[in-house]
Amino acid sequence: MSTFQELGLNEDLLKGITDLGFVKPSEVQQKAIPLLLEGEDKDLVALAQTGTGKTAAFGFPMLQKIDIASRTTQGLILSPTRELCLQITNELKAYGKHCKGLNVVAIYGGSSISDQARAVKRGAQIIVATPGRMKDMISRNMVDISKIQYSVLDEADEMLNMGFKEDITDILSHTPDDKSTWLFSATMPKEVATIAKKFMYDPTEITVGNKNESTSNVTHEYYLVNARDRYQALKRLADANPDIFSVIFCRTKRDTQKVAENLIEDGYSAGALHGDLSQNQRDLVMKSFRNNQIQMLVATDVAARGIDVDDITHVINYQLPDEIETYTHRSGRTGRAGKTGVSMVIVSKSEVRKIKSIERIIKKSFDKKEIPSGSDIVEVQLMSLANKIHTTETNHEIDKHLESINELFADTEKDELIKKFFSVEFNRFFNYYQKSKDLGVVDSRGSDREGRDYSKQSNDARYFINVGSKDGFDWMKLKDFLKEQLELGRDDVFKVDVKESFSFFNTEKGLQEKVLAFFTDFKHDGRYVNVEVSEDKGRSRGGRNGGRRNERRSSGGSRKRDDKPRGDRRSSGGRRSEGGSYGKRSDRSDRRSNSRDDRRPAESSSASGSDRPRRSRRRD
Ligand code: ADP
Ligand code: MG
Repeated sequence: MSTFQELGLNEDLLKGITDLGFVKPSEVQQKAIPLLLEGEDKDLVALAQTGTGKTAAFGFPMLQKIDIASRTTQGLILSPTRELCLQITNELKAYGKHCKGLNVVAIYGGSSISDQARAVKRGAQIIVATPGRMKDMISRNMVDISKIQYSVLDEADEMLNMGFKEDITDILSHTPDDKSTWLFSATMPKEVATIAKKFMYDPTEITVGNKNESTSNVTHEYYLVNARDRYQALKRLADANPDIFSVIFCRTKRDTQKVAENLIEDGYSAGALHGDLSQNQRDLVMKSFRNNQIQMLVATDVAARGIDVDDITHVINYQLPDEIETYTHRSGRTGRAGKTGVSMVIVSKSEVRKIKSIERIIKKSFDKKEIPSGSDIVEVQLMSLANKIHTTETNHEIDKHLESINELFADTEKDELIKKFFSVEFNRFFNYYQKSKDLGVVDSRGSDREGRDYSKQSNDARYFINVGSKDGFDWMKLKDFLKEQLELGRDDVFKVDVKESFSFFNTEKGLQEKVLAFFTDFKHDGRYVNVEVSEDKGRSRGGRNGGRRNERRSSGGSRKRDDKPRGDRRSSGGRRSEGGSYGKRSDRSDRRSNSRDDRRPAESSSASGSDRPRRSRRRD
């Protein structure tokens, strides 16, 4: 069967399908839909990878089977996260766009429970819920699921991974025994089999592809590095892929936040997604990611479950997951909707044997690759820029100035002109990588600290300033503030590190006099702002570790901070994401100018102040 008509769907749904532009049912849809539409109601276990169209595989049959004329809740879909919950709800609404009177309601935590109860009361034929909130509403008598005829456990393996087993058991005990249960899962660990046995009667099992197998559109690569080079390796992988649009997985919320912050500070458009952020912050980050304003989304496994973005080019395993099975879910975030994707793993020597275990699970082998060298990256970036220039539509506003420009370059050969032109965009990037060492582990003597490839360090001046987050600054605000006050250029202030009551920042040494002179008698909000040169010469690079050491310089309060060094970091990161947690281009990041799309008007990094319009745009 190769059309939706042939699967037996009704006219209203077929109209919806046409509107959506679905042409051909996917494999899991071809297998599940006719089966579920058959007169006799059956239980079903369907195993299929992410991105294979499972929502429609249960959504269409459910929409066709329920009685839309009735206001009784007849269908219940449980799904692991709020993101997925909303996504399924929206999909079902789109599928059923022509089904008059259809009411699908999403129920999930972090949003008003009484609003959701009210929406249900208005008559929801289908409820899509996360287990936690669902259980809560049942216990408060806010929903009635005693007439459910169809229940779906979507992403069952994920729900069980997340510890929802008891909630699910509890919820299902409030539904009639004679309902049908449809279980959808990407993998089939033991717990899923147990659930299936417990709640289902003689289920039909369908499998698309091999059980637990990774999507075939995804290639798997691993990179062996010294554990301490992990972050540098990550940056290089990103730099070697100028059009990267990726999810980066870390093991803990802390690492997630830290890696995202470091990336942002290093000028990448990155954002963090983890459970310590408020719902609002997570929504903002996801929105920016969807709009391609964030190129690198750093996420925990749990938080990433709801990510439904189809055009992710790379998944980067910054650290391997604790449960090796989780790798399948991670890599399944790329290579969706018929596209190809790459799943990269950064491993240290001690973890490399895990690669073998993963290969057994995904039934595919990994390519062992070397972290790109500085010169590889420079080449990639140059060519990417050349390519971008080549395909850029000419702006004819320039025509009227052409004569004067030509005059200026009258004696410049074409090759020379090209080199000059590229140098404008490229020098900082080039300098950064010029002196860098390779990151492979083989190089046991050479790879003394990655941080050393920071060519500018000796030329920097580091300052202490007695304003911090309690004065309303985050690093972006402070950077803007300094630039404005000192009338400096876009890249003149860098490595801004905001603590609670004080901060650090760097400029080129040449600006030191100007900075100190300006702040000799300067008041902000009625109090004197004091800036002095930081004396900590031991810092390998301004920023993180060095910053923490520097904290001791300040009197009072620093002890507390030392007790919980992450606390302020996390909260400042959180606040930051509310205001746009994504990287503003700072030093070294000119390469971002040839990033993903043409939608960002302020891409040209040579235009001074170009980050301002971008950032304010992002804030809205
Ligand atoms: P899964 O739940 O298996 O991860 P989804 O149901 O979320 O997959 O579907 C993945 C994407 O593919 C969605 O954007 C969905 O709209 C799209 N899709 C689903 N079925 C089809 C189809 N038959 N033709 C084209 N696109 C489809
Ligand atoms: Mg799904």
